[in-house]
Amino acid sequence: MAVMDGCEGSSKTWVLEEMDCPKCGQVIEYYTSRGRIVEDVKCACGYEVKAQEPIPFPNEGKEK
Ligand SMILES: [Zn+2]
Repeated sequence: MAVMDGCEGSSKTWVLEEMDCPKCGQVIEYYTSRGRIVEDVKCACGYEVKAQEPIPFPNEGKEK
């Protein structure tokens, strides 16, 4: 037994981060996973932080 190790909890490691809104200066909280923004977040002033697409790894992203 070995290969199935580490399945649990490896994919959902979201990190809560903060940034200042470039429009109104309020703090916007957003979640990242491996440095990538995972969800759209909208500030109260209407400014929107867009989620970022996952960057495919060269090794895994090959088309079938
Ligand atoms: Zn704002």
